[in-house]
Amino acid sequence: MAHTLPELPYAYDALEPYVDELTLRIHHGKHHNTYVNNLNAALESEPNLANVTIEQLMGQAANLPESIRTAVRNNGGQHYNHSLYWLSMAPAADAGAEPPAPLEAAITAAFGSFAKFKEIFAKTAATCFGSGWAWLYVGTDGKLAVCSTSNESNPLLAGKTDTAAKQLLVVDVWEHAYYLKYQNRRAEYLDAWWNVVNWAAVAKRFASATQA
Ligand code: MN
Repeated sequence: MAHTLPELPYAYDALEPYVDELTLRIHHGKHHNTYVNNLNAALESEPNLANVTIEQLMGQAANLPESIRTAVRNNGGQHYNHSLYWLSMAPAADAGAEPPAPLEAAITAAFGSFAKFKEIFAKTAATCFGSGWAWLYVGTDGKLAVCSTSNESNPLLAGKTDTAAKQLLVVDVWEHAYYLKYQNRRAEYLDAWWNVVNWAAVAKRFASATQA
């Protein structure tokens, strides 16, 4: 069972003007697809891992055979992170400007207010040095937290959370995510990105991550 590029749950032009069609086409169809192909190539020598899901691979990345560990971590991390990035977004008309009540209450408890959370998240994303990601996740202490990760890493690979399911929201701040439209202006991309955050999907992930 090879890993496959997930279909986007919206059209390539559906996130305009905030995330433009050309960027999305290349980002999904070329960049993400390459990570999936490279992940499958890396796993060819380990048939016993053929039926392991990407979420499970992330959870056991440190224990993979050394000969494929780096390739699986790099390409599998990128496959996992991009898959969640696509699901973190929705067309602006469907996106909803704010999280539904239970998540909103948890965000307020953790960060002071929704506005303060946005400020912290945007600053974390803006100041991530080089290529990387910014995350909202449920930490190993059960609390909501924000962090950035470099390159292919994510909170699970970094040991900040214990399952893939507890990673709730992610924004890609590799230049390929915004350069065609925003060039070097990462902060402008991040400002626009709030318009397409799929809060309903994030709230669903939060509910399943925090149920007993
Ligand atoms: Mn990317």
